[in-house]
Amino acid sequence: MKTRRFQSHATSPGIAIGSAHRLGHHGIAFLKLWIRDSDVESEVMRFREAVVKSKEQITRVQAKMCRFEGHEQINILESQRLFLQDDMLVNTTIAHVKELRINAEWALDKTLGSLRLAFMNVQEDYFRDRRQDIDYAGRRVMSNLMGHPEISLSELPEGDLIIVTHDLSPAEVASLPRERVRGFIMEAGGMTSHTAIISRALEIPAMFGVKEIADQIQEGETLVLDGIKGILIASPNARELEQYKQVQQKYQALEQILLQEIHLPTETKDGFKIRLDANMEIVEEIPSIIQHGAEGIGLYRTEYLFINRMDEPSEGEQYENYVTILKKLHPKTVTIRTIDIGGDKLAFGQRYEDQINPALGLRAIRLCLRELPLFRTQLRALLRASVHGNLRILLPMISGIDEVLEVKKIIRTIKREMAQKKVPCKDKVPLGIMIEVPAAVFTANLLAKEVDFFSIGTNDLIQYGLAIDRVNELVSDLYNPLHPAVIRMIVQTVRAAKAAGIQVSVCGEMAGAPLAIALFVGMELDALSMNPISIPRVKKILRALTREKSKRLLAEVLEMQTAEEIEKFLKKEMGSISPIHNRHLSILK
Ligand code: PEP
Ligand code: MG
Repeated sequence: MKTRRFQSHATSPGIAIGSAHRLGHHGIAFLKLWIRDSDVESEVMRFREAVVKSKEQITRVQAKMCRFEGHEQINILESQRLFLQDDMLVNTTIAHVKELRINAEWALDKTLGSLRLAFMNVQEDYFRDRRQDIDYAGRRVMSNLMGHPEISLSELPEGDLIIVTHDLSPAEVASLPRERVRGFIMEAGGMTSHTAIISRALEIPAMFGVKEIADQIQEGETLVLDGIKGILIASPNARELEQYKQVQQKYQALEQILLQEIHLPTETKDGFKIRLDANMEIVEEIPSIIQHGAEGIGLYRTEYLFINRMDEPSEGEQYENYVTILKKLHPKTVTIRTIDIGGDKLAFGQRYEDQINPALGLRAIRLCLRELPLFRTQLRALLRASVHGNLRILLPMISGIDEVLEVKKIIRTIKREMAQKKVPCKDKVPLGIMIEVPAAVFTANLLAKEVDFFSIGTNDLIQYGLAIDRVNELVSDLYNPLHPAVIRMIVQTVRAAKAAGIQVSVCGEMAGAPLAIALFVGMELDALSMNPISIPRVKKILRALTREKSKRLLAEVLEMQTAEEIEKFLKKEMGSISPIHNRHLSILK
């Protein structure tokens, strides 16, 4: 076969080499039937039984997932199980059966169709990926209704396999025999899908979003999956295959070495300490966070708590969630960010649907200050949880001091109310802000007087600073963290924080980019917060640096004119400083 190359998102890192195994997934064909009045009750019963059976199957898979060494607490199917419990699905389907006199399959299809529609115009990755949960759960109930056997992936061909498919649910990924499945390629899915999170937690290299790949790969064909760069090579030539085998060996050896070193201090050769924290989205990531040596949580994106469902989480439910995290991480610091979500992206309510430019619209803190009951509930849950550990509260997308003052006033009022009711709360819960909008960079000296810490969100800072939509593939080549403007914005923010004596960290993806580490050391940042998998590698690089050398590199970079020049320079310098193989020195492309 002729060699072909494909490029897409590197969803889960690592190198996989194996034979292609195609798994088809097609929609389930069902009959649409009108039913008699006398059949309504039995039809409703049949549907209820299929839902119960589906929930039992999910619970069984969850139990199986718990057996993966080191990932005991993976509970990721919870959103599918909760979805099956949801009134929307069950009651609406039953209402369709009763009112329209149609069979359960048809009624379920109608319900799923309207739920999918509700999620359809949403651009946010999180929601697109939750739509997948609806599909997986719906597919399962439909299969059970029709008496299909449970999806079984345990009967796969022998040998090292790379699964090529349109879509797999987290449950299906979890039930793959790991000794044979070396990687997988999916047409659907994004970085934030639960399937992506599972594949990273199980450390199976993966590439998602590879358009129409299933029809372009032959069964049994040799594949090389480069989950670091997001490259798939079908039928590689002998030389390429040999090169990749060597890269794979080096990668695996390096991973082992890196993991052995996670207990070493996070400091440079000349003793400059920088805390390496983890970003987290769901509680199930905690074992992996601890395993990779995180010193705390630098960013907990609480949006996840709000979007895996059809209603808003209550204060009590949020409180429980925050307390669990604080206790599991104790005495480490846990930085919890208040919800960062656009109004048009709320699953519940759909109140602000028609924003032409949602990235610049009513999102994050702006939305919270407009939807005060929502915000107050979250703040109350956080303040109540504060007595159980080392909590810091972080506010997203601050663009001016008035927003900070308003939030502080709300917090004071909630604390007063709590004191009146004798509800315990820590005296001082540090309050910080994300610096991710240029307006915040330019007023950082003013903002620093009002808050306890800054966390620089480079993902959005690059988007807003360079005017590059972070989800628009047409301009993704222009999205460059090493643009001189980005580096200057970070430097300016750090200087303002230092002048005011407050802590400053970076929590965007750039925090884990090997090429940027020396710049952050040169700036003397207090902490970097990143995807837990990146921590061991960043630690290794950090420990090979010195503060003095990093300061010199930063000074030189600040004299340079283009991102290209900076990238070339850093690759050369970092390549000689750090023992990490050069191919890891990429910069978020
Ligand atoms: C950021 O913008 O850098 C950030 C960390 O926040 P998010 O990616 O959640 O917008
Ligand atoms: Mg952001």
